[in-house]
Amino acid sequence: MQIIRSVQKMQAWAGEVRIQKQSVGFVPTMGALHEGHLSLIREAHKKADKIVVSIFVNPTQFGPHEDFKNYPRTFEKDQKLLIQEKVDVLFYPDAHSMYEEGFQTNIVLTELSKPLCGELRPGHFEGVATVVLKLFNIVKPHFAFFGKKDFQQFLIIEKMVEDLNLDIHVVPCALIRDEDGLALSSRNKRLSEEERKRALVIPRALKMCQEFYQKGIKNVAQLQSKVLEFVDKEGDLNIQYFEIRDAKTLESIEEIQKPTVCAIAAYVGNVRLIDNLLLGEKNDSV
Ligand code: AMP
Repeated sequence: MQIIRSVQKMQAWAGEVRIQKQSVGFVPTMGALHEGHLSLIREAHKKADKIVVSIFVNPTQFGPHEDFKNYPRTFEKDQKLLIQEKVDVLFYPDAHSMYEEGFQTNIVLTELSKPLCGELRPGHFEGVATVVLKLFNIVKPHFAFFGKKDFQQFLIIEKMVEDLNLDIHVVPCALIRDEDGLALSSRNKRLSEEERKRALVIPRALKMCQEFYQKGIKNVAQLQSKVLEFVDKEGDLNIQYFEIRDAKTLESIEEIQKPTVCAIAAYVGNVRLIDNLLLGEKNDSV
């Protein structure tokens, strides 16, 4: 596996691969890799000839009081995992080469970025979209793989690719959970044993919502109040939101009729976790 740190070298590599008529599959990450990330790489191998993974903890998507400094960084271990997964290139730029002095161009987002995490983390998705567009221009992928764990992020990137006519196929990948149901996340590393136990209320709440839905409750207010009652009783969490929304537009709905996402964000101690479940999708369960 090659490790490329320079933007220019990465672009040159990608240009060469394209001349050779080989396809590039790209998995952008912030490192601290786990099975969720590895599942994206495995999907990439099914579609593309060459695989590029980036590790970049992007400062512009963190708010001033968020965990940029404490974000887990496990580069040595990540490198070994990527070699095992037969990744061709690890792109590992530093913040200076991604944002040279005087950087002043940002993507502006509208509807999809307004609710849920967008409302609570102002500027977060603009930071994400801008860095992803930069990475796309550097890695020049044919396919880019995103996890449905970050469902709003996936929708925003998919829309950006459509709106800006990028010649990239965005591939959504399944959300991967631990055996106990907790969605895998780099931030789980920051949970104490006791906090991890408390965090399990999050997947349980989603599961409960799915069960009520399967029993025939389609009214969103009713589902929300039943689930929040459970979380209040069982959980010692600071819930930021628990929302049931249209899975394409993220608009509010009153009754579940079309594909729907049930999304949750909560603090467990100092660690902010997100999770979601698509209602009505066959393979989506907790
Ligand atoms: P991150 O390193 O957290 O920025 O995530 C990089 C990519 O991995 C994103 O597309 C995430 O949605 C995806 N990802 C993170 N956790 C999971 C998971 N548990 N299951 C599936 N994809 C994931």
